[in-house]
Amino acid sequence: MSTGTVAGERQEFTFQAEIKQLLHLLSHSLYQSRDIAVRELISNASDALDKMRYVSLTEDSQRDAGALEIVIEGNETEKTLIIRDAGIGMTQDELVQNLGTIARSGSAEFLKAMTASAGTSKPDVSLIGQFGVGFYSAFMIADRVRVRTRSYREGSGWEWESDGSGSFSITPAEGDLPRGTEVILHLKDDATDYASTWRAREIVRRYSSFVPYPIRLGQGGEVLNDQKPIWVEPKNQVTEEQYTRFYQHLTHHPDETPLWHLHLAADSPIQYRAILYCPPTNLERFGFTKLDHGLHLCARRVLVQSECRDLIPEYLRFLFGLVDSEDLPLNVSRETLQDNTVIRRIRTAIIKGVLDRLDRLAEEDPEKYRAFYEPFGIMLKQGVVEDPANRERVAKLLRFSSSRGEEGASVSLDAYIARMPEGQKPIYYLGGPDLASVAKSPNLEIFRRRGLEVLFLTDPIDEFAITALTTYQGKKLVSIDSADLELPEVPESEKDEPKPDESPEAKESGFPRVLDLFRAALGNRVKDVRESKRLTDSPCCLVNVEGGPSTQMQRILRMANRDFPETSRILEINPSSPLIRRLGQLSANADHEAFIKQCALQLWTNAMILEGVTPDPEDLVSRVQTFMTEAAEKRSPLIL
Ligand code: ADP
Ligand code: MG
Repeated sequence: MSTGTVAGERQEFTFQAEIKQLLHLLSHSLYQSRDIAVRELISNASDALDKMRYVSLTEDSQRDAGALEIVIEGNETEKTLIIRDAGIGMTQDELVQNLGTIARSGSAEFLKAMTASAGTSKPDVSLIGQFGVGFYSAFMIADRVRVRTRSYREGSGWEWESDGSGSFSITPAEGDLPRGTEVILHLKDDATDYASTWRAREIVRRYSSFVPYPIRLGQGGEVLNDQKPIWVEPKNQVTEEQYTRFYQHLTHHPDETPLWHLHLAADSPIQYRAILYCPPTNLERFGFTKLDHGLHLCARRVLVQSECRDLIPEYLRFLFGLVDSEDLPLNVSRETLQDNTVIRRIRTAIIKGVLDRLDRLAEEDPEKYRAFYEPFGIMLKQGVVEDPANRERVAKLLRFSSSRGEEGASVSLDAYIARMPEGQKPIYYLGGPDLASVAKSPNLEIFRRRGLEVLFLTDPIDEFAITALTTYQGKKLVSIDSADLELPEVPESEKDEPKPDESPEAKESGFPRVLDLFRAALGNRVKDVRESKRLTDSPCCLVNVEGGPSTQMQRILRMANRDFPETSRILEINPSSPLIRRLGQLSANADHEAFIKQCALQLWTNAMILEGVTPDPEDLVSRVQTFMTEAAEKRSPLIL
């Protein structure tokens, strides 16, 4: 930011550092993305006309606003391109603020985006309009830009001028300026074609066909666009191409195709029309801060607010679109929108419409649903947490990996329930940092043997969603690392074949003694040591006390807060595993007690390591070395 130095009536300003960087990037940007400069300036003209139309409808003194139009005028001999609008114009202060000095986070965000995308593909300058710095794209085709403007609130105007290097100036404009703004581009030598009529025609046709004001070729010239609002048309009369173009118009994205769209219409009890889009990518995943969210809100075709947050909940923030209602007063103020009944009812209808749309998509086009879910599923999970009224509805759309699924497959809660064996009551899940480690958890053994499916929760937000949900279709959601785990009864047919290791002798031989020795060795490292009913092969596993948070939840809470207390857990040991059986036999002789206790410590340590924690590494290392020494002693050098 800089202060102006007054020289006569002319004031000089330097651009804020980030804007300088931005200008540098733009003036060296790719040749083929340059069309967007014209598009952005037309879009600004259209915004200024929106505001003027609003003012003319709400302020008595401005009732006669004249023709709300845009004129685009090229001059090939002068090498200039002029874009003129009869919008609200700018005062001197507004010029300074909007075009140059006040810190605008948009330029920083945009630069960040450009640097981020530079690694993966070529930077996509065409996104500039989304960051609220579209005006500066003028310097892609011009080496000097002049802005002559008169605000509807003032009798005389101002002229802003810059060569896009480091500074700009503001001077009182000579002569009588009409209300509105005129941007004069002095075209670069390699951009003079922008002064030609065919270029103007082409750009308006490609990018600005949805601008709702006439765009004329020269003062009083022919109108280049047809300005028809597609959302008031019946759905079956709007073509796919029109939907796509409208999306590109709304998003300032010249060649992106939305993943899907939704056209809603109702006449009672409230009249509204809406067109909503899902973009193909989730920008938040590229490390951006949370997207601004909101839809364009129109009252009887007049744009009232361009990013109305009250129309959608935060978890549907991926949507782009427009809502138009005849039941809204024009002068609805931003502050009261939230409490406005019409807005609230439209919001409810939009949520329902979008969730229904996603249901249908999942059913009719699973491939496309996957393309949607992969980037945006995380927002739906947030929805389960945040939207109690629609919790089950949103949960229906979630997908999880599972112990049953093939690599990469994902299952819905409905599909899980549909294939539950008879007798299974709850829905089982297990959380962990990634699929590979969850799939290896010893807690799964009994589930595998009994053919019970377990959902794998590997995204940190999964557990928050599942915990918020608690039940789905009346079925409890249960983490399988909980101590009070209830398994369905074993069907009679399976009871008859006892597993060899479950014979009573296996248990009798000192198992209770082993439990005691383990308890003594582990002390308050664990809450208790118990016999396990869930293990078939592994010697032990850790489970959580009844009603306590799951292991993964504890891990997440610990990541968020380092002081989160380590909860003590229950160590379950498996009497039928060969190691535990052998320890049972050894326990008959008191000489082996020290060894059994060392084994207890090591087994507990192993279980912790499987969960990503390594307690007391020095003890661990020295213990394992002792074990190895003992094992080595027992080997005879004579046997090869
Ligand atoms: P955005 O349009 O996203 O706000 P821009 O960089 O395109 O970002 O424009 C910055 C601001 O400059 C606009 O918000 C608006 O206040 C002002 N502005 C730009 N062009 C015009 C215009 N033709 N008439 C009135 N104001 C304008
Ligand atoms: Mg703009």
